[in-house]
Amino acid sequence: EQRDPNQPEFLEAIDNFFKTIAPVLEKHPEYVKANIVGRLVEPERAFQFRVPWVDDDGNVQVNRGFRVQFSAAIGPYKGGLRLHPTVNLSIVKFLGFEQIFKNSLTGLPIGGGKGGSDFDPKGKSDGEVMRFCQSFMTELQRHIGLDIDVPAGDIGVGCREIGFLYGQYRRLRGAERGILTGKGLSYGGSLARTEATGFGLLYYTKALLAANNETLDGKKIKVSGSGNVAIYAIQKATELGATVVTASDSNGFVYDPNGIDYKVIQQIKEVERGRIKDYADRVSTAEYHEGSVWDFDADYDIALPCATQNEIDADQADRVIKNGATVVASGANMPCTPAAVTAFSKANVLLGPAKAANAGGVAVSALEMSQNSERLSWTFEEVDNRLKDIMQNIFDESQAAAEEYGLGKNYLAGANIAGFNKVADAMLAQGVI
Ligand code: NDP
Repeated sequence: EQRDPNQPEFLEAIDNFFKTIAPVLEKHPEYVKANIVGRLVEPERAFQFRVPWVDDDGNVQVNRGFRVQFSAAIGPYKGGLRLHPTVNLSIVKFLGFEQIFKNSLTGLPIGGGKGGSDFDPKGKSDGEVMRFCQSFMTELQRHIGLDIDVPAGDIGVGCREIGFLYGQYRRLRGAERGILTGKGLSYGGSLARTEATGFGLLYYTKALLAANNETLDGKKIKVSGSGNVAIYAIQKATELGATVVTASDSNGFVYDPNGIDYKVIQQIKEVERGRIKDYADRVSTAEYHEGSVWDFDADYDIALPCATQNEIDADQADRVIKNGATVVASGANMPCTPAAVTAFSKANVLLGPAKAANAGGVAVSALEMSQNSERLSWTFEEVDNRLKDIMQNIFDESQAAAEEYGLGKNYLAGANIAGFNKVADAMLAQGVI
């Protein structure tokens, strides 16, 4: 806290994490002696840079760019780029820190990093987004590389932005496809990458339910968000027999007890770049409300927050519990405040933590890197099947770690422990660096 007084999200993330790791440190004095914790909270490297660009009126705008290379103990830094006005060093460090253990949990050889900018793509023309991305990559390219650091998308960074970023990288450094993931299919992207985080969230939720003798069939689900993660979570939930009753953005949400149609959201958000309000104008059974979807009462069984950090506070958690939900699985990173997590735990709500439940995106990003190295493209089914296996494995490992430490159904602690052990062992083996 003394070192990073202005980084509340980062401090929240490390505090949440290390609380659950205490029994591991007790069992492994060698981790304590090697000060694994003290080393892990310090990024190996963090860059902040100026991103000047010219808007459509000819005015020069300036944004702030970041890349935090947190840990490469088990592989090259890997993690998304976020474009949102709330981006600052605290947000990027919290996301980068979480990414270390999420990536470790996937079982793939990737380290943790994250980046982004306080640039807001909302309301900007394609030309403005392109000029911003070109300026951002002109600096970022100095720091990334195939075996060094491989960024991807996150909030505000989808196919359009990755295309512009890749184009600029290629112009400056040559056509090295493996340098970014989430690319378009025509220039080295992987099938199923767009769907991966949302689909993976449902594969994880399915595994969690199965371990508790339940299925998704007939379940009612509240989803927040209407971006990349939310859209494909809605699609897969519906395919697996559940009914998704809500979707949202930062202004409001739609509620439809008959089920949300992901194709309508896809059209509004991905094609027209519109707002979730537009959904109610097109689907007569849906109603639109301003405000947070978590302040709205409805009957449902499962909550899948897929928007942003700290979107569910303690009061909203109480409402989730009162509405009858027994499972909360995180599509977004750190969507529940610490007080909300406590409320869920007390009420025996089963929690699927972000670093496990939303790891499908980065897992398929790593599969995209493999395909780029092989110069081959796998079929949708092949990637999807690998994703299913990875998500099941993540759940199994988290459950096994929770059992090993006598933590019952605390899948959150289980995921932290399983992700941490591998990184800690790699750090021990590599000496004091
Ligand atoms: P998108 O930009 O595609 O969508 C984000 C959605 O969340 C939008 O509906 C957006 O609404 C809403 N949102 C964003 N910020 C806020 C806010 N401050 N308050 C309320 N709503 C907000 O992003 P993604 O779907 O890619 O990411 C969503 C979450 O999932 C993030 O936490 C991200 O880190 C996490 N994630 C994403 C992965 C991926 O592969 N894309 C992988 C793993 C995790 P609005 O349009 O109004 O801003």
